[in-house]
Amino acid sequence: MEAYDVAVVGAGPAGATAARFSALGGARTILLDRRPELGHPVQCGEFLPTPAELKDLFDCDEVIDETFRVPPGTILRETHGMVCIAPSGREYRFPLEGYSVSRRAFDKALALDAEGAGAELRHPCGVTRVRDDVVSLAGGGQIRARVIVGADGPLSTVARSAGFSVEREMFRMVTGTSLGTFSDEIRLYFGQVAPGGYAWVFPRRADANVGLGVTSIPRGRSLGTLLDRFLRREKISGATDRTSWWVPIGPPPPSAVRGRALFAGDSANLVMATNGGGIPTAMISGRDAGVAAARHIRDGRPLSEYDTLWKRHLFQPLARGHRIKHLGDRVVARDRFLSLGMRYIGASGLDSMMRLRWPRRLGGAR
Ligand SMILES: Cc1cc2nc3c(=O)[nH]c(=O)nc-3n(C[C@H](O)[C@H](O)[C@H](O)COP(=O)(O)OP(=O)(O)OC[C@H]3O[C@@H](n4cnc5c(N)ncnc54)[C@H](O)[C@@H]3O)c2cc1C
Repeated sequence: MEAYDVAVVGAGPAGATAARFSALGGARTILLDRRPELGHPVQCGEFLPTPAELKDLFDCDEVIDETFRVPPGTILRETHGMVCIAPSGREYRFPLEGYSVSRRAFDKALALDAEGAGAELRHPCGVTRVRDDVVSLAGGGQIRARVIVGADGPLSTVARSAGFSVEREMFRMVTGTSLGTFSDEIRLYFGQVAPGGYAWVFPRRADANVGLGVTSIPRGRSLGTLLDRFLRREKISGATDRTSWWVPIGPPPPSAVRGRALFAGDSANLVMATNGGGIPTAMISGRDAGVAAARHIRDGRPLSEYDTLWKRHLFQPLARGHRIKHLGDRVVARDRFLSLGMRYIGASGLDSMMRLRWPRRLGGAR
């Protein structure tokens, strides 16, 4: 049986980053993904904040500098500002610097970085089960690894087979491409247009990534009909290349270590619940998992160091974001109240919520 120090399952942002740092730390690392083409099909809004914005969100500047690289060739457009649109149509605008990226190019670039650092990349190569140190592959092979990183997304096979469970709350999401000319702000629409979540328009060069995420689908509707209705209302052309997928918006777990398995990114719920963004947190937790795995192999340090690292970098803002989202859900079940609530907290309050902070009008820091 082939043997590695570290097997990383899933070559999305969490896994590719984990493999890069594990290999940089001197561990013999393999990165496995079931997809024939990494990053495709695109199941993402493809928006990323700049590193400077991330430093404002998470208190770990040096980690962000070494972890969060947006390869210039993957950027489709720079965006300047976010607009939150209430059900009443009122718009709340605040600054937010970011990029629309091509996930299709972005995921490949991150995997290439991992290879460049010395990791072996193998795909398409699905993992069907993990038991102790044995990773079973679709098609029958097996790999032995001293540490396994579960970075295989919200429906994680590794989590299920290793008995790692987190409180799952999910956004059901649909995304597609609409042609047209769009301003360089990202736009989020709230209310019954996307119950429990929001609809979005994220501009790219000659088109936009459009979509919506919901916590529940009203009876008689589907994600597709909700999206059609939203696009018609906003007079945006119908979306092509549609995909639907899940985003976990539950609380961060008390521990992301189970035996010899470390969980990063969506597999461990490490997503910003107020805005559904999970790429930066996947990369930061991936980095922490890769560093902890390599230290374990090289110096015999306990794998629980992974918990210390990701909790220091991510736990408080993510837990706060989850609490803010829940309070918002209770207050804003009806469009009229939601419009009034958005008016009460205003643009600066919405800006705070998107940045995982309590709005000043709801008591500020907690
Ligand atoms: C519609 C939509 C829009 C979104 N928009 C944004 C956005 O604009 N900005 C943002 O920051 N976040 C966004 N997110 C969230 C973001 O996409 C995720 O949080 C992020 O991709 C998580 O990264 P990850 O590496 O943990 O998981 P993933 O990106 O899901 O990667 C998991 C990888 O594991 C592989 N895999 C799965 N199972 C197996 C298996 N059994 N064996 C081998 N390989 C396997 C998959 O092929 C995949 O490549 C969006 C999500 C959705 C669904």
